[in-house]
Amino acid sequence: MPELPEVEHVVRALRPVVVGRRVLAIEIKLSKLIAPTASSLFNRKLKGGTITGVSRRGKYILIELARKRALPYGRASDTSGAREYQKPARQQGLVLITHLRMTGKFLSLAADDPLPKHAHAIFYLDNDRRLVFCDQRQFGVMKLVSRTRLAKTKGISELAPEPFGEDFTSSYLKETLSRSRRTLKTLLLDQTKVLGLGNIYAAEALFRAGVNPFKIAATLSSKRTERLHQAILDVLSDAITDSSTSRVNLEQPNGFSYGEAFERFWQVYEREGEPCVNCGARIKRVTHGGRSTYWCPRCQPR
Ligand SMILES: [Zn+2]
Repeated sequence: MPELPEVEHVVRALRPVVVGRRVLAIEIKLSKLIAPTASSLFNRKLKGGTITGVSRRGKYILIELARKRALPYGRASDTSGAREYQKPARQQGLVLITHLRMTGKFLSLAADDPLPKHAHAIFYLDNDRRLVFCDQRQFGVMKLVSRTRLAKTKGISELAPEPFGEDFTSSYLKETLSRSRRTLKTLLLDQTKVLGLGNIYAAEALFRAGVNPFKIAATLSSKRTERLHQAILDVLSDAITDSSTSRVNLEQPNGFSYGEAFERFWQVYEREGEPCVNCGARIKRVTHGGRSTYWCPRCQPR
């Protein structure tokens, strides 16, 4: 499953491929990808839109589009049963929200490239190329919202501050930890409390901070909270900037799979029984709730 640094790489790979391009047509081959929206409505809203930017909120990929005409909206926010129309605007901002979940990926294909297996959405662009969304496991989701409603969209509205945003400070982390009786490992995975860490980077951040994953969040001292805060930023920014991890190639259908390129970078994740890079003790692993926790018993004793 892609974690935040990998999603950031997808965003960066998408930008040069799609920004400035107009969407001429859309083909949805798996209706549950955009459910409950019907593909006819999806098509009508997107068709003719120009892609103005690609960004990210948590692990949601945001493809921003501008349309010249105002478009009808309403069903989602409409409680009266009557159709509601947004005020006419010269530029109607739309955001195509995509969550890759387990195996979703974007590909950029030429007009005559064969479609890969599991191609569930095809966006025909004005430069004769196609942006294709493939998803073997079919957990990925796409949703179209107006830009003004983005922050209120379910899934996005609940997210904690971006790790590299100015709101994610060590005092934010301290405040958040102080209110929780959960273990640090569990709390760090809760994207509504601390954003950006999945199972891999939570383990890596705790290891770098020298903090035991099973410690109760509220009992972590100020000093160690600061260390954990720094470790979270370091582990994420290293994963984003390390050149060995930037291998997202949108033009190779089988050219990458999430995780592979990142393995080299992991110090405890999936290293059970291997010697710790700091002290040589054997890395431990326990499973709870179906997820593995890795840590060094000597470097992270408490
Ligand atoms: Zn160690």
